[in-house]
Amino acid sequence: MKINDEIQIANDESMTNDEARNVTFRHSGFVILSSFVIRASSFLLLAVFPRAVQAADNISILGSKPKWSVLEHYQDTITHDEFAHLINDVYCTHGLAPDLIEINEKTARILTNRESQKFFTLRFAENDTLCKPVPRLWRVANSLPRANPKKPLSGLRIALDPGHLGGKWAKMEERWFRVGNSPPVREGDLTLKVARILAPQLRRLGAKVSFVRNSSEPITPKRPDDFKDLARRILIKNGVPQPRPDVLDPNDSDKEKTIRWQSEILFYRYSEIRRRAVLVNTKLHPDLVLCLHFNAEPWGDPNSPTLTDANHLHLLLNGSYLQDELELDDERFEMVRRLLSRAYDQELPLADAIATAMAKETQLPPYQYPTTNSTTKVGSSGYVYARNLLATRLYRCPVVYCEPYVMNSNDVFAQIQAGDYDGTRSVNGRERKSIFREYADGVLDGLIEHYSKARK
Ligand SMILES: [Zn+2]
Repeated sequence: MKINDEIQIANDESMTNDEARNVTFRHSGFVILSSFVIRASSFLLLAVFPRAVQAADNISILGSKPKWSVLEHYQDTITHDEFAHLINDVYCTHGLAPDLIEINEKTARILTNRESQKFFTLRFAENDTLCKPVPRLWRVANSLPRANPKKPLSGLRIALDPGHLGGKWAKMEERWFRVGNSPPVREGDLTLKVARILAPQLRRLGAKVSFVRNSSEPITPKRPDDFKDLARRILIKNGVPQPRPDVLDPNDSDKEKTIRWQSEILFYRYSEIRRRAVLVNTKLHPDLVLCLHFNAEPWGDPNSPTLTDANHLHLLLNGSYLQDELELDDERFEMVRRLLSRAYDQELPLADAIATAMAKETQLPPYQYPTTNSTTKVGSSGYVYARNLLATRLYRCPVVYCEPYVMNSNDVFAQIQAGDYDGTRSVNGRERKSIFREYADGVLDGLIEHYSKARK
């Protein structure tokens, strides 16, 4: 989403970008962004479209100005064919305006600013053998030394990113529902539990594990109140001239047009994920980030949620940028930098391996997106999609984003209520492991499968 210079003053994040999914509707200069992978309610975030700002940088919410000169380090590191393949088949599968990235025989010309008509020129290597080494802080799997078969992950730095916050923030995040008097379901608590079960098992296999989040408290020091002014300006710029301060009724379909709702999402999604990215990119320096989530189908009233029979699994990698996202200078820059880092070469076989192992463990069918408007199926497992999410774009290393289980399905709800336990139990008529261990074991089996083969 776009944001102008004035609004960018509100940004003190040193990183760029948003998990928000993108422009779905545009009418009369009024852009509504839908904001999540799969949502339990209709999250909508209004975007700011700058009009006639001086030599405007088109920057996404809380994003920062791209440093195009960084791309100089990637000169002669990729061939024409490889670059074109990644653009056409992974990152820009929905097309792009012809002046944004022009692929010529020896160079690509990338627009850095439309108003000033500035471009960055990337030189291609003539062939694979003439490619210079790709600069990056993380290590590709086949550069890791051959490992003891009992420690297939030895030396691998894995950061676990349990999605959302949970705890007292879960309701605000709209990642909370409760059936009758049963304990509430909070996605952020479930993901943290999986991470804590996964971490010691990864360490046993030799990995160096860090947590992007290891409590129910945010990483960002900001709170919703810090974003009230920005929220108001976003709403005004998007045609809500006198935004209401508060949400009167949680089921109000117009709640997205209130300052409270906007300032909260700026806090728990935009600010939080950008701060996590700063942590990943400047302190943790992992070789891989695993984003752990639980999926959901729309559940309506969180105090009287709809339960469903639908249950499924999918994994996400960064890619499949929408044309409107590519118009944003920071997103375009991050896309190109990510492409050039070749994170995708690592992500795809790993995601396929994890998906296959999780499918075996959970017996879940692949999720089918109802449209191909924002995702592109990739890989061979049938479970993996490219999609441009804030976390998959901003963490500067391979990122695999797991979306198993529909939390408000009858089966998964029963599994969650059964809690964590050793061995197996009968849950909804099927003998199975605890959902947390099933999740962790699937991820673990996929990692073992992949790294046993992919190392030197
Ligand atoms: Zn989630």
